[in-house]
Amino acid sequence: QESKLRQVQKMEAVGQLTGGIAHDFNNMLAVVLGGLELAKRQLGADSSAAHRHIDNATEGANRAAALTRQLLAFSREEALRTEPIEPVALVLGMSDLLDRTLGDGVSVAVDAAQDAAWLVRSDRHQLENAVLNLAVNARDAMNGRGTLTITAAGVTLTEGAVGTCHAGDYVALRVADTGCGMSADLLERVFEPFFTTKPAGKGTGLGLSQVFAFVRQADGQVGLESVVGEGTTVTIYLPRYHAEAAGTPRPEAKADAPVE
Ligand code: ADP
Repeated sequence: QESKLRQVQKMEAVGQLTGGIAHDFNNMLAVVLGGLELAKRQLGADSSAAHRHIDNATEGANRAAALTRQLLAFSREEALRTEPIEPVALVLGMSDLLDRTLGDGVSVAVDAAQDAAWLVRSDRHQLENAVLNLAVNARDAMNGRGTLTITAAGVTLTEGAVGTCHAGDYVALRVADTGCGMSADLLERVFEPFFTTKPAGKGTGLGLSQVFAFVRQADGQVGLESVVGEGTTVTIYLPRYHAEAAGTPRPEAKADAPVE
């Protein structure tokens, strides 16, 4: 309980801090990257050592830019652009991207279980981003070999059945890998911003906290199951959207409700 609270406070602090600096930082990185590109052009063809130094610097700056973009996405407070979405269709639309992201050694299976045609109301870009974050984690956990299974199913939950959910219909989007799994200690901490076990430059520790923040904002829940040596399943539960009720305002999630 206390760790959940700490995590939420930390997330707020991170949001405020990064919102302020990430934007400026990104502009400075653009100057660095532009300068490196010009320097490389002026060097000409036959100074390979200098080229290598510049390439290394460019790679570092690109990584920094990617991290900054992630920080910006994390702290962004802009309203979500929500629309009715059929999650399984959204995932199927990501097939090429997922294949490319996961590489040849990993097979990707997308399954539509019962009531998979239920709709959710969500921001398409953010939902895709969440799936992609989970897929990247799965790839890293599987070391390039294994199976990623994404399943969409309609489920009816009773109050509190998953996290602090309200009773009702949800679409459960399950992302299961056959990777290294996580110990109980690790499971405790993975939603913390900046918590990562990956080497510097590879992990930012923002993937799962971003997923968590996005899903909670949508009044959904995140479930996590993992067995060391066998694999991990992350499940995103999003409230079912009833198309026929369009126009009737949905009951708003209480903004002041404690997260757990
Ligand atoms: P990052 O991927 O940048 O490290 P995340 O917040 O996405 O940041 O993940 C935090 C940590 O949780 C990872 O470093 C890894 O140790 C663990 N983790 C996340 N997803 C998985 C997974 N599918 N299998 C095993 N470990 C995972």
